[in-house]
Amino acid sequence: MDTTVHLIDRGRIHADANFVLDGSTVAVASAQNPELEYAEFLVWNLVIDHPEATVLWDTGSHHAAGDGYWPAPLFEAFAHVDADEHRLDDDLERAGYSLGDIDAVVTSHLHLDHAGGLHHFAGTDVPVYVHEEELKFAYYSAKTEEGSVAYFAPDFDHGLHWEIVHGDRQLLPGVDLLHLPGHTPGLLGARIEAGDDTLLVAGDEAYWRENYENEQSMAASLLYDNRAWFESLQRVKELERESGADVLCGHDLRQLEEKTRWG
Ligand SMILES: [Zn+2]
Repeated sequence: MDTTVHLIDRGRIHADANFVLDGSTVAVASAQNPELEYAEFLVWNLVIDHPEATVLWDTGSHHAAGDGYWPAPLFEAFAHVDADEHRLDDDLERAGYSLGDIDAVVTSHLHLDHAGGLHHFAGTDVPVYVHEEELKFAYYSAKTEEGSVAYFAPDFDHGLHWEIVHGDRQLLPGVDLLHLPGHTPGLLGARIEAGDDTLLVAGDEAYWRENYENEQSMAASLLYDNRAWFESLQRVKELERESGADVLCGHDLRQLEEKTRWG
């Protein structure tokens, strides 16, 4: 039995494209009031169906994101318009899995469009893999006035069975976690061997293909460390050159048309 990887559609976020492509719309002398681009973003999770374990990669937004669960200013900026139609258990069911099938969770980072389904694993012994730097920064941000507003304690402040990742680490044979700091301090990506496919999970290192291919960063508000972001990008590109892998970006809607299954 080979590994297969399934991309699970977890809904759409609507937001200004300037967040994703830094300076995508700017005023110039001859056009001082340009029209902003209000764009649509894909939220996805992965099920990594490995012979030794079934792994859930990220948990999406909380299903009540639009019903007052997310702080209003955050929903105004990043409107997850259909979160209520995308409960994690329902979306897994549609893909042929159930919450009970999940042996381990990897949380690429703890922003609220990635950690909103962790509550399903509260009080269980399902290990939740997270980078050390991420967990520290998430608590620092959510529990003080410092840090980033994109961390929301009710997402992750549960009785979770955390498994702390300190650097790169093999999760399973053919599934390697990569520390890709930049977007956040502890962002995790992965290199996954699935049958004849190699998949590089860049995730929120590159929201859209343009971030990856043109090396055009996200806006400063979505970059914890610009320099680290650039170095992580070079690292993923080097791995792509070595392996000819498919690269999976964090929020690119075009991915649904391209490929949703590996292996
Ligand atoms: Zn994200």
